[in-house]
Amino acid sequence: RAEIAFIGRSNVGKSSLINMLTGVKELAKTSQKPGKTQLINHFMIDNRWYMVDLPGYGFAKVSKDKKEKWEVMISEYLTKRSNLCGVFVLIDSRLEPQKIDLEFLHWCGDQGVPFALVFTKADKLSKSQTDKNVKGFLGKMEDIFGEIPDHFVTSSEKSTGKDELTSFIEELVAEYESENTN
Ligand code: GDP
Repeated sequence: RAEIAFIGRSNVGKSSLINMLTGVKELAKTSQKPGKTQLINHFMIDNRWYMVDLPGYGFAKVSKDKKEKWEVMISEYLTKRSNLCGVFVLIDSRLEPQKIDLEFLHWCGDQGVPFALVFTKADKLSKSQTDKNVKGFLGKMEDIFGEIPDHFVTSSEKSTGKDELTSFIEELVAEYESENTN
């Protein structure tokens, strides 16, 4: 079955986004405590595809050993799943482009991992400030990749972007299914 994965810095709003998309509160545990999701969690959706919650990156107080374990687990997952249709990389829309996000996206590009961007917490800033940050980030993407990736601006608080994201996922899953049924 198709898998769609979600990843981002810890505290970026990944659990909240997953809960918004599934409509299930507490499916993915939201928490103030960074780095809580340590394992890869699969949630079956509509008896049809898997939403995959990947452990976050970028938490400060993590040992080198743990970081390396994370890298191995994530790169194994992202590069070896033929049923992985897309990875949503979550970016906090309040922040200037962060080195760690850019590095991760660079790696995805190099590995041919199909990703799209989700700018989270859009309710936290004014629309003009959010737009400015998003534009800035996409400009960086264009510098790196020569093109602007698919992207979504969301707020789990206000359900912003839910429909757009849901139809995009639906397209990815449908495409996978049409290529994998006989
Ligand atoms: P995770 O660590 O990436 O899974 O992040 P969480 O979903 O646990 O969210 C981290 C914090 O940000 C929590 O306090 C959430 O309530 C808050 N948060 C997440 N998404 C939003 C959002 O869209 N708007 C606002 N205002 N707060 C959010």
